[in-house]
Amino acid sequence: MKVKPVKIVATIGPASHNEKDIRELARAGVNVFRINFSHASIEEAAERVNWIRQAEKELDKPLAIMGDLPGPKIRISDMQANTILEKGQKFVISKDIMVGDTDGCGLNHPSIIDVLEEGAEVYIDDGTIKLGITKKLKDKVEAVIHVGGLLKPKKGFSAEGISLSSAGLGEKDKQAIKAMVEHNADALAVSFVQTEKDILAVRRLLPENSKIMLIAKIETANGVENAEKILEVSDGMMVARGDLGLAVPMAQVPHIQKQLIDLCVRKAKPVITATQMLESMISKPLPTRAEVTDVANAILDRTDAVMLSAETAEGKFPVETIETMVKIIQEAVKHLQPYEYKEEENVGNSISSTVGRVADQVGAQLIMAFTQSGVTARRVSRHRHQQAIIAVCSDPTIMRGLCFSWGVYPHLIKPTKNFEDMLEQAQEIAVENSMEPLKRGDTYVIAAGIPFGESGSTNMILVEKV
Ligand code: PGA
Ligand code: MN
Repeated sequence: MKVKPVKIVATIGPASHNEKDIRELARAGVNVFRINFSHASIEEAAERVNWIRQAEKELDKPLAIMGDLPGPKIRISDMQANTILEKGQKFVISKDIMVGDTDGCGLNHPSIIDVLEEGAEVYIDDGTIKLGITKKLKDKVEAVIHVGGLLKPKKGFSAEGISLSSAGLGEKDKQAIKAMVEHNADALAVSFVQTEKDILAVRRLLPENSKIMLIAKIETANGVENAEKILEVSDGMMVARGDLGLAVPMAQVPHIQKQLIDLCVRKAKPVITATQMLESMISKPLPTRAEVTDVANAILDRTDAVMLSAETAEGKFPVETIETMVKIIQEAVKHLQPYEYKEEENVGNSISSTVGRVADQVGAQLIMAFTQSGVTARRVSRHRHQQAIIAVCSDPTIMRGLCFSWGVYPHLIKPTKNFEDMLEQAQEIAVENSMEPLKRGDTYVIAAGIPFGESGSTNMILVEKV
């Protein structure tokens, strides 16, 4: 089965930092590549963009690029390779350490060290390493390791009672935004969003007519609280479970995930479920049963996309991880029922909520949505019908942005001139698309709008035969 409705976002890192690996990941099922600027340099990002665009051409498969902005995250300093911490040993966190080792480390925001209190518990790397502060000194604190292990460079650092609530955009964020705009990336993920203002601040740095998508990462308590308002000014969301699990009681994460997914699906904006989905595959060729169940449950929650972080960035089995993801998706979607959304009554909503039902009733194999802004295809997608949705559009960034949406297979064309031209192009795409090529006598359903080329003009459903 070529059709794989749930989209896969894969993070590139040392384990996939070359052209061949990126192509193999894309071939195995990746739709969106994530460049994580918390780790990647501006130069590495440029190389990766070139490789992704090359893979897209060679495989003839649309691939979106998402630059993930570091945001105001507190991280430890660079570390010497293979720094292993033992339970019970002493460790310092100091303003003077630039490259850490088994004796101690620094922080990217050194002033945080001043607010660390004696007795506080500290987590590094999403809770992998745990330590307790034992003594406060000038410009440093002493700590004891409660849970040891491999301490990797620049990993997240969190402690009770500290936050960088209003740090705003840092220098690296600004450089990354500029680089991603120059490279025509398709989306930016905005980290640690607390209110809609954080999204608007990034939008202000974009060129006026930029079509780059802004994905709000929900990973703070305020972000959860303000999710609806944040979504109004964003193009999609990420349920960023790693930091979210430290920002709110971890037991709430599954329910917040469900709420955020439901919110996004109702608003027809793509939602990505992220972090630790197949975590054990970083070092093992098979996932745990709990991980498989987590991925399947996210799909049953109706997520548009699932994301892999360290699994593809620094794991031992990146391609196997994608292949595993694909298998779980193909099984889980068999159990997903089409869903009716009560929505604002307007022509566009009415067409997009009806087209899937028409497709079912006439036995159509394919839905084709002619879309200017991408909205029509996303509104059809949110009903989670079984037919593949080929989204036909003429703008490359809009086209690639549709790589995030459930069941949508974007297809780039020259702008449609008139009705006859549209029908002709539709016939060609119906037979020649690589997702669901139709045979003579097969039926497909078109959602489109006249006048052509105008956003929000969707006003017709056509049933066609090849
Ligand atoms: P990160 O975001 O990997 O950039 O931290 C995802 C998360 O927090 O889950
Ligand atoms: Mn995060």
